[in-house]
Order: sequence, then C-alpha cells, then structure tokens
Amino acid sequence: MKLLDSLTRRFYFVTALKGLVMTGRHFIFNLVGITKRHTIQYPEQRRKYSNRFMGIHVLTKKPNNEIACTACMLCATNCPAECIHIVAAESPNPKVEKYPAVYEIDLMRCVFCGFCEEACPVDAIRMGRDYEYAELSERNFVVGIEYLMSRPALKGRNVSIYHETDKVVKSDFQVSDFKKAS
Ligand code: SF4
Ligand code: SF4
Repeated sequence: MKLLDSLTRRFYFVTALKGLVMTGRHFIFNLVGITKRHTIQYPEQRRKYSNRFMGIHVLTKKPNNEIACTACMLCATNCPAECIHIVAAESPNPKVEKYPAVYEIDLMRCVFCGFCEEACPVDAIRMGRDYEYAELSERNFVVGIEYLMSRPALKGRNVSIYHETDKVVKSDFQVSDFKKAS
C-alpha cells in the first residue's frame, strides 16, 4: 500500500487524471440533469438572500429627509477594519448638535461584520441588501453620504431608508428582526 501511495505521488498524472474523471463526471451528470446544478445563470438569475444578509450600508433619514446620523463616531470607533471616515460639523438645525459633513466607507476594506449597525445609538446606519459593486479603481470603492443615502439600488428594496422612529415606511428587514434572528 505504501509503495502504491509513493508511486501515485511520484506519477502525479494519476492524481490529475482522477481529478479530470471527477470533473467530467460532474459535468455529464449536470448536463443530463442527474444531479442538481449549483450554478445559476447570473445576472439573469439571482439567488434569494436571507433577511440576515449584510450587504452595502444604508444611512437612514429622519422623516423630514435629514440625515439621521449625529456624527457621534461610535460606528467608526467600533469598526474593526477602520474603514469609516467621518468629519463632524455643527448642524444648522438648532435642535441637533452635530451632523456628518463627510461620512465615507471604504467598501474595499469593510468586512461587512455589521458592528457599525450594532454600535449606532440612533439607527442611522443599517446593513443593506445590495452586494454588487464593481469598479475599475480602488479609489471608487470609497462611498460617501449621497451613495449611502440615496443610491438607485435602494429604491423599491426591502431595506427601509428611514429612521426607525418613522412609521411611514415599513420594511421586512428591520434592525430588530436582525437582532431576533441572530
Ligand atoms: S460592516 Fe464592519 S467593517 Fe464594515 S464598516 Fe461596518 S463595522 Fe466597519
Ligand atoms: S452612524 Fe450612528 S454611530 Fe455612526 S456616527 Fe452616525 S450616529 Fe454615530
């Protein structure tokens, strides 16, 4: 048995052949429908993700369409990838102390852990559902307030873009659902 093992290792083509036979078997079985295909015709077909799926972030709005974020920095402090950059400024609204003049997330560094969502005391950031983000330059993976608050992909999706105190927009994916499910 030892000799056979050593011969198999020495003549690597035996192992390569085994791999080819296995690939061919899967190919034929898939082709004639004996086994269920695990691949899909993307992008025409898409997988349905669970409500717990954490995709690209959403910055929520107050009912008056102002940004809900108060620039408290808790999300940035808790982010393990240090990919949130916030510049706080004095709010023009006398009832609000601060707002983020700059709020950027580097999606290339983000690990989509959801800690920012968990850390936020005012439900101003949520993990969205979108996962498709292709760019040619690394620089373009840094997304700002406009993208996080009102990108076209948010229209008609199940993630509410409104602050949790707003009862007008209901979604099937609320922060409380996520906490319940986890
Ligand atoms: S999901 Fe995690 S890594 Fe990404 S920005 Fe939030 S805290 Fe940072
Ligand atoms: S998103 Fe939430 S935690 Fe982050 S700065 Fe804004 S209010 Fe604070």
